[in-house]
Amino acid sequence: MVTTHPISDVKGVGKALYKRFLDAGIKTTYDLITTPPKAYEDYTTVDVSALSDGQIVTLQAVVLSAVHVHSMTRVSRATFDILVDGLTLSVIAFNQNYLKESLHAGDEIIVKGSYQARTSSITASKIHHMANVRLIQPIYGLEGIYDRHISKIIKAIETDQQVDIFETLPMEDLETYRMPRRDQAFHMLHFPESKKDIQEAQRRFKYEEAFFLSLQMSYQTKEKTKRPPKVYDLERVKKAIERLPFELTDDQKKATNDIFKDFRKPYAQFRLIQGDVGSGKTVVAGLAALAVASANEQVAIMAPTELLARQHYDVLSRLFEEMSIALLSSRTKDKKTLKDRISHHEIDVVIGTHAMIEEDVVFDRLGLVIIDEQHRFGVRARSELGNKAMSQDILYLSATPIPRTLAMVAFKDANISVIRTKPEARPDVMTHYVNRDDIQMVFSDMDRRLANGENIFIVVPAIESLEKGENIETVSGLIADRFNVDVWTMHAKMASDDRDLAMASFREKRGAILIATTMIEVGIDVRHATMMVVFSAEQFGLSQLHQLRGRVGRGDRPSVCYLISEKEDVNRLMILQSTNDGFELSAKDLALRGPGQFVGSRQSGFFKFRFLDFFEDSAILEEASRRVERLLDDPMFEGSVRQAHLVKRLKRMQGASEPYAM
Ligand code: ADP
Ligand code: MG
Repeated sequence: MVTTHPISDVKGVGKALYKRFLDAGIKTTYDLITTPPKAYEDYTTVDVSALSDGQIVTLQAVVLSAVHVHSMTRVSRATFDILVDGLTLSVIAFNQNYLKESLHAGDEIIVKGSYQARTSSITASKIHHMANVRLIQPIYGLEGIYDRHISKIIKAIETDQQVDIFETLPMEDLETYRMPRRDQAFHMLHFPESKKDIQEAQRRFKYEEAFFLSLQMSYQTKEKTKRPPKVYDLERVKKAIERLPFELTDDQKKATNDIFKDFRKPYAQFRLIQGDVGSGKTVVAGLAALAVASANEQVAIMAPTELLARQHYDVLSRLFEEMSIALLSSRTKDKKTLKDRISHHEIDVVIGTHAMIEEDVVFDRLGLVIIDEQHRFGVRARSELGNKAMSQDILYLSATPIPRTLAMVAFKDANISVIRTKPEARPDVMTHYVNRDDIQMVFSDMDRRLANGENIFIVVPAIESLEKGENIETVSGLIADRFNVDVWTMHAKMASDDRDLAMASFREKRGAILIATTMIEVGIDVRHATMMVVFSAEQFGLSQLHQLRGRVGRGDRPSVCYLISEKEDVNRLMILQSTNDGFELSAKDLALRGPGQFVGSRQSGFFKFRFLDFFEDSAILEEASRRVERLLDDPMFEGSVRQAHLVKRLKRMQGASEPYAM
């Protein structure tokens, strides 16, 4: 049982302070103890011999002389000498007359101030007796509460034993990796004696997060039910490959092999096919679908947008005539008939958007689910599928490289197939960051291209809202004033028939402009479009911008992408200028935005990580994951008290009642 008290029960917490704690989301003693400091002020580490002029420093020192106070008209100036690491410095403090009384030769103090090289002195802003300060002061950053005050409250909680911090990790792990207990670790975070204390405590919490993440992932993987190996018709697949209008790349062959190997295993596969946009994931998915269809089972393919679902439908129907493929979209005229045909197994492959999950589609024998997440990687979709397809094989297509370590935990290394090389080497799209003030430069390039019969995509972040900078309306006005060519718009508020019409007209016309929201991010292929102009580019993620520029450069003419922004977002946008490699970009994007996007949202049952960093802490994550694997492999674990304890803990973390639960 957890002992915890309302924070108002703690000595020294009055009404005002109580309210501030509540505002900071801290209701109980447990909440406070488990809130780690955001940073530390460290008074322990200054190398005096390396001080530079003007540097702000905090030094531990011994007072060498009595304090001399010199009063001028407005200010008074106290001076005295100190000894720091064998060096003598003088200290100057303004308007601190009391120092004369409170400081004496031999006192140990802490001085904070700026170093003046010429006079070997410190102009002090703060002077404390050593006994009154901590060498490493935690910084909590709670609105309206002094850090020192928080330290005091935490001390009171500890002294009066107003909280019970239970252990969450198995004891052996603590022993094996020499990690502090959970209560000790929190104490070390709040009252570190040294940097090492902080590191040790953090290491423990990183491990804890890694451990429970691994556990959660392992349980999800283990939940797969066994199924008989799929008996597919290899000859039929081979014939289909021969009929393809192109030769598969080596990576495509390898990915296909990986998938087929898993089909022959006695349990369902969960595999990630990772490959940049244009690497040819669709045909691999198509071959997987064909194999499953040849085993007399059905396949569901889910695309992120309706446009893309339609495109998959077009491509796959063309490439694999031997399968009966159906598109289930909001525009399907007679859904009832289609659903009947699906449930009677007259259809091998059903393609739709995620909305397909909500439809009451009943399959006869659903043997494979393919999820094309394009650049959106979310472990989420996996559990959403739960009821319908958890026991089925799942292929996950993603253009986003997830960090290797996370991939390892989420998918296990062996379950990832990477398609690295692209079938047709497209010329890179030249990318330029342009300040909004220099828009005329972009316009003149537009003039040239339009006159040449080339088409232009313009992308804006919003339809009519001004919150995100430019929108369809503002930019349409701008373009109509400046250009005398055909302009179409496309966005989510239009009827889908109108959208199709706009798209079709744009595709046919030479020297035209299409103004759209990110709708065109995926799936649109217009070979004579050579220019992409993104307004308010700061509103988009790097991966998203990369997808957008992938809409041009599909023909043989040199293509260009302009990223227009007046915000101070140059560094980020410049990354796009420097590389065309989607993998590299996603890694950089991730480094900038943090891994949160990968582990899903609050609703998805994944925790937020307070300590673990997917890039830096790969070793810890790997170790924890190995450890969890060993634990689950242990025949004694299943049904044990420990298992019950860990699962309960996991549930609790997912239930958001815990500090770093999500
Ligand atoms: P993505 O991985 O982005 O989904 P697609 O599957 O849409 O990529 O493939 C991009 C384009 O490359 C498509 O037009 C597809 O027909 C073509 N393609 C796929 N594989 C090959 C190949 N081996 N050789 C030539 N073209 C290919
Ligand atoms: Mg694709």
